[in-house]
Amino acid sequence: MSRYIATRAIRGANALVIEAETMLHKALSEKGPDTPVSFPNTAYYLPTIYAMTGQSVETLGQLSESLSHARELLHPIPAAKNWTPYLGETLDGGMATLIAAETIEAIRYIYDLQPESFPGFELAGGTKYDNLNGEGHLNGAIDDIQLRSWGIQLVDGRMPGFAAIVGAAKSNEVAVKIVRELQKRNILTFLCGNVNGRSIIDQLQEEGVELGYDTYTVPFGRDTLSAIYALGFAARSALTFGGIKAGQARDILMYNKDRVYAFVLALGEVDDLKYAAAAGAINFGFPVIADTVIPEILPTGITTYEHVISMPFNEIHGGDDLEKAERLVQKCIEVRGVKVQIADVPVPVPYGSAFEGEVVRKADMRIEFGGKKSRAFEYLHMAELDEVVDGKVEIIGAGFEDMEPQGAMDLAIVVKVAGREMQEDFEPVLERQIHYFVNGASGIQHVGQRDIAWIRISNNAVEKGFDLEHFGKILHARFHSDFGAIVDKVQVDIYTEPTLIEEWLGKARESYDYRNKRLADLTDDAVDEFYSCTLCQSFAPDHVCIVSPERLGLCGAYNWLDCKASFSINPTGPNQPIKLGKLVDMDKGYWEGTNEYAAIGSHGVVPEVAMYSIMENPMTACGCFECIVMLIPETNGVMIVNREDTSMTPAGMTFSTLAGMAGGGMQTPGVMGVGKYYLVSPKFISADGGFKRVVWMSSVLKETMADEFRIVAEREGDPDLIDRIADENDVGTVDELLAWLEEHNHPALIMESMF
Ligand code: SF4
Ligand code: ZN
Repeated sequence: MSRYIATRAIRGANALVIEAETMLHKALSEKGPDTPVSFPNTAYYLPTIYAMTGQSVETLGQLSESLSHARELLHPIPAAKNWTPYLGETLDGGMATLIAAETIEAIRYIYDLQPESFPGFELAGGTKYDNLNGEGHLNGAIDDIQLRSWGIQLVDGRMPGFAAIVGAAKSNEVAVKIVRELQKRNILTFLCGNVNGRSIIDQLQEEGVELGYDTYTVPFGRDTLSAIYALGFAARSALTFGGIKAGQARDILMYNKDRVYAFVLALGEVDDLKYAAAAGAINFGFPVIADTVIPEILPTGITTYEHVISMPFNEIHGGDDLEKAERLVQKCIEVRGVKVQIADVPVPVPYGSAFEGEVVRKADMRIEFGGKKSRAFEYLHMAELDEVVDGKVEIIGAGFEDMEPQGAMDLAIVVKVAGREMQEDFEPVLERQIHYFVNGASGIQHVGQRDIAWIRISNNAVEKGFDLEHFGKILHARFHSDFGAIVDKVQVDIYTEPTLIEEWLGKARESYDYRNKRLADLTDDAVDEFYSCTLCQSFAPDHVCIVSPERLGLCGAYNWLDCKASFSINPTGPNQPIKLGKLVDMDKGYWEGTNEYAAIGSHGVVPEVAMYSIMENPMTACGCFECIVMLIPETNGVMIVNREDTSMTPAGMTFSTLAGMAGGGMQTPGVMGVGKYYLVSPKFISADGGFKRVVWMSSVLKETMADEFRIVAEREGDPDLIDRIADENDVGTVDELLAWLEEHNHPALIMESMF
């Protein structure tokens, strides 16, 4: 263990704890001890403090206790002689640093200094860049919504790990390269810190790199302290997905060491505070890789391999700066043991799901297909094995070379697949993947599906050689790699020739109609098996979703057809057919088969499940639900809150708090997590009176699903039903809700009692 590192980390920790104490003192006198303290939209208080100490901080006053805990962890700065600093004291200092950093950030939230504002960045010449999601500010603390969505990807392996980058790279070019290398591997990247006032966030911003949740490249803040948000994320993963209780610090650290493949990449000079924060990260088993000369710390068991690695940038072997950047990233992956899988997709641009959320702005666009000015559609159909030439990609019609810049043209992507295990029912399941597959290419934006597809190709991608043919190459590669069990051959025809486009559009539309009808005919009583989904058992061990044609999985990602396809792809996987067997009660939705399965799948925790009731043996939930349905007893009805709604519900709780009640695989009558398309199913809580029970709904749901709800209202025989449902803009309390319902003649008021 290096005395140098110990000295600097312990010195950094001492200084930060003092700074936090001073800030807290000032805040207490200015704002008072009862001032509420929180990070936005999380049920985990100040997550690192909560996870490590079990303390649920809600007010400024309570932070004194957190800081005295931090102070206890401090050790004296090593004397120049006669003292051999050892790892334990450095790690304690690291933990104290995390507590102090979180305290400071929490106080900054009170003073509106977090998230950090970052107005459109201006370059010489007047060009403004503001590629950030949050319009003019950095991301700051990660909310629970984002935690869940990334958490699932970390659990199922789509996202192999995360990187916390602190500092600034040698040049803008190197900064971009490092981030692209990480994105290519789907590694989530958190950005923070600076070197002499310059941050990697500035560098990426100047280069026009899109930052934010959607691109897996998240700017926390331009100082070192904001690195705490990465550790807050890690700590919450253990609580949410690992089922570990707050305060079980050791288990949380072990969980992270064993399951969360994260590392810290320190770019540029490392100061005391960075050493201290690095010691905090090492506690979690996250190694630190620096691109400057610093002493290394070799394995002692806290991290899997080395704890600290020094890889001075200019001394990295081989090639120019870009190659050096690539090697640096490779070294990080090696030191943390991140397991990266990338489908080999032959395109001239970086490829990976980190690029799925990327937007191609009009100014950066070479050409678009679909949208307002042209039409694009995609159609996948099965054919006989001998009718498909695997790997063939044909462009029928002109390319876009002669189109004016930022032009628009018509396009049809027709995919023909064949396979012994392929079924017609899988066509729509596969066709929907086109969106994700095409979007994975950097510089390509894909929106929509079927005949409302809209695709943009950026100038940058075209300069690198991206062409129409690459759509076909992507689809061929990805269908084989992801659906190899049902797809043996894939051929892609890309049409730009107008008469052929018309012709294929006719065929495609016939097929879309046919599939719509097939889907509508797919009712629960028309099939003899449902499907299980146990994908979420890796973090909610007793939860199973039972997926029927009229009730999709609560995450919204798996409907009955998806499960059926998934079972064909992987017969021993998470989606197993459940033979319905003898019908017990059609109204409430009991079959012998579903009950038996519920008991087995939940390891005996849930002996029975009613498919159509929220009041009697409702289906359990993990944590991924799109919406929460909850009984409001006074109204004889239910409210529906969706994940995007952060406001207060009339029940006096926000989505985050309600999520704690709905999840965890427990049956709680009156509370249920559901997928949003279940809301419009005729089987939506049909045993309890159905959709007419809905008395309150988040406005964003009302707006985004307006068309679907209109059809439901007609079906329920009350075309004005949706207008009788209140939202957060209409009422804030149960009393106000009741008055609203009276005034709007809501049917729930005169329906039979729900309980
Ligand atoms: Fe998880 Fe249910 Fe979605 Fe399966 S269907 S992934 S178990 S939420
Ligand atoms: Zn889940």
